[in-house]
Amino acid sequence: MLLLLLLLPLCWAVEVKRPRGVSLSNHHFYDESKPFTCLDGTATIPFDQVNDDYCDCKDGSDEPGTAACPNGSFHCTNTGYKPLYILSSRVNDGVCDCCDGTDEYNSGTVCENTCREKGRKEKESLQQLAEVTREGFRLKKILIEEWKTAREEKQSKLLELQAGKKSLEDQVETLRTAKEEAERPEKEAKDQHRKLWEEQQAAAKARREQELAASAFQELDDNMDGLVSLAELQTHPELDTDGDGGLSEEEAQALLSGDTQTDTTSFYDRVWAAIRDKYRSEVPPTDVPVPEVTEPKEEKLPVLPPTEEEEEEEEEPEEEEEEEEEEEVPPPQQPLQPPSPAEDEKMPPYDEETQAIIDAAQEARNKFEEVERSLKEMEESIRSLEQEISFDFGPSGEFAYLYSQCYELTTNEYVYRLCPFKLVSQKPKHGGSPTSLGTWGSWAGPDDDKFSAMKYEQGTGCWQGPNRSTTVRLLCGKETVVTSTTEPSRCEYLMELMTPAACPEPPPEAPTDGDHDEL
Ligand code: CA
Ligand code: CA
Repeated sequence: MLLLLLLLPLCWAVEVKRPRGVSLSNHHFYDESKPFTCLDGTATIPFDQVNDDYCDCKDGSDEPGTAACPNGSFHCTNTGYKPLYILSSRVNDGVCDCCDGTDEYNSGTVCENTCREKGRKEKESLQQLAEVTREGFRLKKILIEEWKTAREEKQSKLLELQAGKKSLEDQVETLRTAKEEAERPEKEAKDQHRKLWEEQQAAAKARREQELAASAFQELDDNMDGLVSLAELQTHPELDTDGDGGLSEEEAQALLSGDTQTDTTSFYDRVWAAIRDKYRSEVPPTDVPVPEVTEPKEEKLPVLPPTEEEEEEEEEPEEEEEEEEEEEVPPPQQPLQPPSPAEDEKMPPYDEETQAIIDAAQEARNKFEEVERSLKEMEESIRSLEQEISFDFGPSGEFAYLYSQCYELTTNEYVYRLCPFKLVSQKPKHGGSPTSLGTWGSWAGPDDDKFSAMKYEQGTGCWQGPNRSTTVRLLCGKETVVTSTTEPSRCEYLMELMTPAACPEPPPEAPTDGDHDEL
């Protein structure tokens, strides 16, 4: 087309004599020395009936230059611009249809010949287009070369990473072993520390319990003869076992396992456990030594009391009795405090040796985790390199430069964002979260021009509709820019991206001379 137009200015030079309204390619049908045969072959008429303003041929071919035949057509040569066929009804209708004005030869309307001007403008814009294509194609070749180099670099980088990965994996394994080896003594030392502490706890608890028992014994032993008798025990009605609110002699005897009195040893061994939860001290609980808690820190080794037998009695569900009892006993005396205040639960800090073992294990863990993290990062780099290298970036990789780029187009309402081979999104211009218009699907041009369009699919779902999707049409241009976004049908978007990578190879430079005529 371009070629043709460039040749047009030459056409006027070879004007051939022919009846009005006949194109150059048809002029041989109109030989004034012979009768005229209609072009459809239906009739033959004397030549003077051609253009006599009377329609003789069914196809209108005898009146190419008048409006006589309704189905006829008039050819404007439009020298300097494009030749044109117009309906014969437009001949001499007072409107200039041909840029050379030849359709108005007998209407009184004077038509200026604008063909030269039109031709010049057309030529200019075609030259511009050709220039864009040429420049775009030049850039495209650069892009192709750049990708070739980049791809090679990426490939060697990949090989390098793959080789490095092996040694990093070995390092991870070595450090894992070292870590596990350091963690074994750590666990032992920690367990040992805990065990020691728990033993100290148990010992302290037993000691406290014994002190409680001793003070209870002292309290019960009114006459201080070193024995607690039935009568002495009976002074504590709260020890009632049958729920009648008092402690009978029989009940008291049962508490003493059938004996009539008890000494300190058997009191602690046999009686204390049975009464400790009910027993209420008459003296204020100042003699219950609480600050002992901090002591185990100083005692390196647990000093176990002589009594090994130490059972922890869970509170029996005797709530009813207790309630009754409480009604009878007016003074709000406190029941014995359980011998484990919260502070006891704090384990003392590790000794130096244990701490050193723990520190060593922690260091081994840190080293291992650090190298393991590097390995993961390396694996991620390998994955993304492999993906990029194997991506289909067009016949010669010309579209590769779009990878890891994003382009935006701002309209009145939205900011559209295209990150080629990744995603398309739409975000309200004045704040708000983006909506996905699709993620990379595939090349989507027609079979013979696959790389002329991209398809992005599975975007955010439309309300009661399909998922949004976008077709990106690629147009030849010197720059890379999103030129338009539309929504031709609901939830299906169309975007145009101008890129040098879409520029076709331009035709060879037009020759400066030629012998072609208009068609
Ligand atoms: Ca005629
Ligand atoms: Ca006209």
